[in-house]
Amino acid sequence: MKEIKIEDKQKYLEENYPFANPPKLTDRKRCIHCEKEMTVGDYKVFIDEYGDEYICCPNAPKCDGTVIDWFPLD
Ligand SMILES: [Zn+2]
Repeated sequence: MKEIKIEDKQKYLEENYPFANPPKLTDRKRCIHCEKEMTVGDYKVFIDEYGDEYICCPNAPKCDGTVIDWFPLD
């Protein structure tokens, strides 16, 4: 997987977020894979050999969490 640079991260998130109601870039979430709090706008995007893009944890590639692993803070 190769990291790609996203120019407009809010727009990208709105177009690619897998659930309803995409978060704001300033929202804080917790990644359940690395158990760390994160700012949504710090997300990374990786592309695989088939051209599929994944919204990943800011701690990627050390953390293998993706957008579906982000949970609200308690
Ligand atoms: Zn993580």
